[in-house]
Parts: sequence; C-alpha cells; structure tokens
Amino acid sequence: MSSEITRIHTGAPENLQDRFAHRAQFMQPSEIRALFAVASRPEIVSLAGGMPNLTALPMDMMQNVVSELIKTNGMEALQYGSGQGHPKLREQICDVMELEGIKAHPEDIIVTTGSQQALDLISRIFIDPGDVVLVEAPSYVGALGTFHQYEASVVHVELDDNGLIPDRLREAIAQTRLSGRKIKFLYLIPNYQNPTGVLLSAERRSEILEICREERIFVVEDNPYGLLGFDKPSPNAMRAEDSENVIYLGSFSKTICPGFRVGWALVPQSLKEKLVIASESSQLCPSNFAQLAISSYLADQPWRDQISSFCKLYKVRRDAMLTAMDKYFPKEATWTKPEGGFYVWATLPAEIDTKALMPKAIVAKVAYVPGTAFYADGFGSWSMRLSYCYPTTERITEGIKSLGGVIQKEMDRRSIGN
Ligand code: PMP
Repeated sequence: MSSEITRIHTGAPENLQDRFAHRAQFMQPSEIRALFAVASRPEIVSLAGGMPNLTALPMDMMQNVVSELIKTNGMEALQYGSGQGHPKLREQICDVMELEGIKAHPEDIIVTTGSQQALDLISRIFIDPGDVVLVEAPSYVGALGTFHQYEASVVHVELDDNGLIPDRLREAIAQTRLSGRKIKFLYLIPNYQNPTGVLLSAERRSEILEICREERIFVVEDNPYGLLGFDKPSPNAMRAEDSENVIYLGSFSKTICPGFRVGWALVPQSLKEKLVIASESSQLCPSNFAQLAISSYLADQPWRDQISSFCKLYKVRRDAMLTAMDKYFPKEATWTKPEGGFYVWATLPAEIDTKALMPKAIVAKVAYVPGTAFYADGFGSWSMRLSYCYPTTERITEGIKSLGGVIQKEMDRRSIGN
C-alpha cells in the first residue's frame, strides 16, 4: 500500500501552465530568494540579506512579554480580532509616528501583516494591468515583485545622494502622460532607502509632495527604517506635511522584530474602507496575538532605548563596512555613505557584471545582491547592494576584503584601470 502511494506522488510533476490563472505567470521568485540558499551557508559571509540583527533584543524580556500576555489576556490574544487592527495598538502606533512629526488618528490606521502586505493590498486596489507605478532607481525588490504581479508597468526615476531627484520626477510624469498611460502612484522609501541607504532631503520631500499633489498622483511613503538614524533623527515623514495625498507604510520589523509580522498603513480617509475590505479578504484580521504582544511591549518596555541600542549596533557595523571598503575596494568603485538603516550601494566600472561575478564571490566565501535585482528593466548590472546589518564587524571586514579581491581580479582580467 505504501509503495503504491509513493509511486503516485513521485510521478513527473504536472505542467500546470495551462491551468493557472493568467496572473500566475507574473509570480516569479526574486533574485534575492534564489541567493538566500547559497548565502545562508555558514562558511559564506552574507552581505546579501537584510535581516534585522536580533542579538540586541533581550530574549528574556520578550519571553516575559509573551508569557504575561497569554497569562493575563490569553482569551483575547488567541481569538479573532478586528479587520482593521486592534484599537489599542492603533493608538500606540500614533505615538510611534509622532516621533517623525506625524499627527494621525487611530481610525485612519490599518494594521497589516508586515508592511509587505500593505504593499500588496495597495497594489490590488490601484493597479490595472499596464498602469504605471513610479519608483526610485533602484528600488526595493519586494515592492517591485508585488507591482510586477499586478502587471504594473514600472517607471524608474533617478536618485542621487539626496534621494529622488524632483526634476527627473517631473520628466518621468510628462513622458509617461505623453505615452497615454495612467500613473497610479509614486512609491518611495525616503529614509535610508533600500537598496541604496540614501536619505531624501527635507527640501526635496516638500517639492516632491507638491509635484504629486499638482499632478494628482498618490505618494506611497514606505518607511521601515525611519527611526534608525545613527547620529541624528531623519527629517519629518512626508505624511507629516500632507495627510490627503500620502499613503504611509510603517513596520515594527526593524524597530522591534520581524517575527510578529506587524506593520501598518496610515491612509487618507477616502481610502480606508477599500483597504480594510481588501485586508479582510486576504486574512480576515491581522493576528491578535502578534498585535497584543507588540502592544504590551510598547506599553511596558523601554522601546525608545531599544531602538537606540539597535542604532548603536548598526552604526558600528556600518563603520566597519565603510572602513573596509576604503581599504579593500578598487579606487574605480564608488559607494553610498548611509546615515542610518542597513545598506550600502556600490557602483563598479560599467564593464563588471555583478550577477556574472557572483559565483566567483561565492568561491571567495562572500555574497551580495547584484544590482539588477532592484530594477524592473535589467538595468544596474555594474552595481551591488551590501548589507551590514547582520554579520559581526570581523565578518564584515573579512567579507569586504574577499569581495574587494574578487572585483580587483575581474578588473585586472578585463584590463580596467591598468
Ligand atoms: N519595505 C521595505 C523598503 C523593506 O526593506 C521591507 C523589508 N525588508 C519591507 C517593506 C517589508 O517589511 P515587513 O513586511 O517586514 O514590514
């Protein structure tokens, strides 16, 4: 009997292509996902993933939070909850956002399963196939994947060390409109951007808001790293200046931990109902357990101090990475100098293809994410994202030293800079 079952299940996998819905063809694994399997081998120094470093989070304290929650409020924590999110947590989220100048009402917040889910819901509400979404060049791979699944046409807008360039935005809007396509929103990460680490200047925030208001384009402000400024706070959130035209996404993944999967969207009133309905269809309600654990943590623990501890930890790692890059990267390479967050973006001579270089880096026991992952159009082949958030400073130095050697060898092979 058991051999019969085994035989049935080990037959050739059926090709379901003609049975899938049309949209399934746009569901493809990201370049980062494919990399993770290799990069997570212990002998490899992974500068690829963007995993928060939980060594700074006291586990005994988290254990107390969770066990107290079950002891004192288990009936509610383990029950279904509100589709919009727990009212108490929504109030506390308002306090968190106040740190970035946002004055919000808990009624305008929808709690989501990470901000990634909010990206999915917003895409579902706004994007018809062929609609244009404007994004920074480069942009967050998880957002690009979501937009792709909803068949958006992604238009990249150039950024520099001060973030998205307003003039380039004007041009992109004009060109897109000329081609007769609809622009649904501008998606951007103003603080310590993923993947470049750059910070959008306060002046540009206002200018971009003005452009988008005039052009009737919503701004989706994705802000998971805003409180992770190393030396000074980031400028006020864009939502602080415009409550009508900005859809703000927040997350506890980087300021507490990603394991609870709690994020949120703060939306203009006119959007709230649609978002709640979309969320209910996707998950009925966000996890009460996770929300109440975060809520107890915020109520009883020194969460601001905890964020400072995270910042200290990341700053030391950022310094280790930049110091090592100065020492070991070829002089032809350039890179960003992040003032917060997780990432450095390196640009190499244009002849170097960082995706093709990856196997050589793996042999040298170091991994990164090739730049093309952060573009919808295959651009960026000579760039790479390097994360300093997770490895120790010693491992970062070791990894950058190996990587610098791999790049130099490739340049020598191609006689670049000789
Ligand atoms: N936006 C950006 C820019 C991110 O970097 C991430 C995670 N790496 C997310 C959204 C999703 O975060 P989460 O779902 O954990 O809140």
